[in-house]
Amino acid sequence: MELLSPVDTIKGVGEKITKLLNKLGVYTIEDILLFFPRTYLIYPSPSVPNPDSVGSLISISGRIKYSPKAFRSKSRMDILSVTAYVGDIPVDLVWFNSNYLKGTFEPGKIYVFYGRLINDNGHYKMSQPQVFEQDKYEAIKQQILPIYPLSKGLSNNTVTKAVREALEHCRVSDDRLPIELENKNQFMPYSQAISTYHFPESFDKLVLARKRLAYEEMFFFILNSRLQENNVAAYPNQFEISHHKEVDDFMAQLPFSLTNDQQKVLDDIREDLLGEFVSQRLIQGDVGSGKTIVAFLAMLDAALSGYQSAIMAPTEVLAKQHYYTFSKWVEDSGLDIPVALFTGSMKVSEKKAMQKLVDDNSNCMIIGTHALISEGREFRELALVITDEQHRFGVQQRDKLSGKGNHPHIIVMSATPIPRTLAMILYGNMHVSAIKELPANRLPIKTCVIKESMRKSAYKFVVDEIAKGHQVYIICPLVEASETTEAQNVTDYSKKLKDYLGDDYRIGVLHGKMKPAEKNQVMDEFARHETDILVSTTVVEVGVNVPNATVMMIENANRFGLAALHQLRGRVGRGDAQSYCILMNASPDNRESERLNIMLKSNDGFYIAKEDLKLRGPGDMFGVRQSGEFSFRVADIYQDADELEMASEDVDMIIKEDPNLESHPKLRSTLNSFLADQFYVL
Ligand code: ADP
Ligand code: MG
Repeated sequence: MELLSPVDTIKGVGEKITKLLNKLGVYTIEDILLFFPRTYLIYPSPSVPNPDSVGSLISISGRIKYSPKAFRSKSRMDILSVTAYVGDIPVDLVWFNSNYLKGTFEPGKIYVFYGRLINDNGHYKMSQPQVFEQDKYEAIKQQILPIYPLSKGLSNNTVTKAVREALEHCRVSDDRLPIELENKNQFMPYSQAISTYHFPESFDKLVLARKRLAYEEMFFFILNSRLQENNVAAYPNQFEISHHKEVDDFMAQLPFSLTNDQQKVLDDIREDLLGEFVSQRLIQGDVGSGKTIVAFLAMLDAALSGYQSAIMAPTEVLAKQHYYTFSKWVEDSGLDIPVALFTGSMKVSEKKAMQKLVDDNSNCMIIGTHALISEGREFRELALVITDEQHRFGVQQRDKLSGKGNHPHIIVMSATPIPRTLAMILYGNMHVSAIKELPANRLPIKTCVIKESMRKSAYKFVVDEIAKGHQVYIICPLVEASETTEAQNVTDYSKKLKDYLGDDYRIGVLHGKMKPAEKNQVMDEFARHETDILVSTTVVEVGVNVPNATVMMIENANRFGLAALHQLRGRVGRGDAQSYCILMNASPDNRESERLNIMLKSNDGFYIAKEDLKLRGPGDMFGVRQSGEFSFRVADIYQDADELEMASEDVDMIIKEDPNLESHPKLRSTLNSFLADQFYVL
């Protein structure tokens, strides 16, 4: 078996599984070896159900008094149900379409069940729990089991087996890095790191494997970016975008004045626009720091200079929001500048009308989603392209946008909070500007962490805020693959909420599985204050700006990384009213409260992400990606900050001696195979 053999050469991987793996981007043996677990599972010691463990994944050791009952539901599903007694606490267990389990139970015997504990009208319940014989459970409890990212039809077991086979039959070469680096860094050998990352014997070994893999990813990432810097000539600036007085006039009549940081970034951009070469600038600003207006002002200068400019956003909701904001600002300015919008869900006739606007006006401001870069979409005199929430785009998509013009100025915007030094390492080929301070009118968001027992007070608080004319986000828990779907989860929640609150409140529902047009509608209604509460999955995490919303309530906050919570919290506190963030903690674990309490201490995203990591044990460190900025397979810029710095130093050392890798052919070829992998963002 060779690294580049197709996956169907693995024993047990037939046509059907091959197709499913392909869908996940796994085509070759190498792909599957690098298809790493998303997290690991250690089965917990059995515990006794209690109100605080409702909502958590637990295992219980329970006695079955009778054989399970099998029946068929109205929707013709086979249902198997039985009650297990933990001491004298009954827990109802149900399985769907799993009647084969029936014969496995012996009345009177104790089994271990692993699943999420729920409270069903006062009764403890587990749906689809895994069942183990007691002694088997004791054995498995010691292991660290990989949990892979899956797709429908593909089980964790299937992937686990396929990976095992591949590891057994394929040799991975350890000859990758120059010997001087191997000697200096003393990492676990590459091949061992790969097998350990799939099947760790211990957390200590897992940590070592991670160091190796993370270091390598970042090493090649940085190496590539430095080589590009060396080779790619900067493009000459052939545009004449000067600073116009009309922009100052517009700024003067804004209801706010720019913060010092915003002004500084704007000055940086203006200088770029007049420079000898086109701009390549990253604007970093934490959530709510006001990046949009800065982008607008730059685009306004472009328009007044007779050029088109474009801003690309990752979601339709965000693109439309920018479109409304920009249209309103242009209107306020009294200037005659057309604004065009392109999104995937627009009708052909609408797109045609927009395209005409673009064709007829060399000073058009263009806003859109990926639809901007689709075939056939053409612009003229495109002098400036901006990518908002840049981490949501791949490098190719961003290149495509620039490709719509003739080497235009490039600005990317990001809300991932990283220190400047880190940004300089990661974005070596970009200039970096940061907006650190928030607008002065902002009151710090008040945050609290509460338990299930305080739910009523939380809802009362929500209702009071609505009575004051404000709006509320409620974020539903993340769902795991084995549980109900995310859509169902959000819908059920909003129904329950409606039952509880009564009909006086207008509730919108938003989840990732909705069509873009539906999502837009729900978001529009919320933005126009036609709904009071938006029950949503984390889809609102990116960029959404509804300043009238003052409460962010997050269910099962314990299941989120703090960086994600920080982004979610950033959806409120965007106006001048006091805003609140309510974190519902469903975990009985004290460490979990301690972790969530970090959110009370700071509003600084980087601090939060770092503190989060300090508190995590090695066990729960692995499932959590603090930053979505770089699509590394393993590495995370916060968790692996030390390796990142090492990698950066090592790359500099190599490049200094051998700027084109002429005496490092091996490194060059390993780099090429990394690049072929195409998971790098920049
Ligand atoms: P982000 O940086 O997260 O993209 P936005 O650009 O969406 O933030 O800005 C958040 C809100 O703050 C918007 O309603 C915007 O109009 C407002 N805003 C921007 N700059 C200022 C400022 N200097 N003073 C007051 N409010 C501002
Ligand atoms: Mg934004």
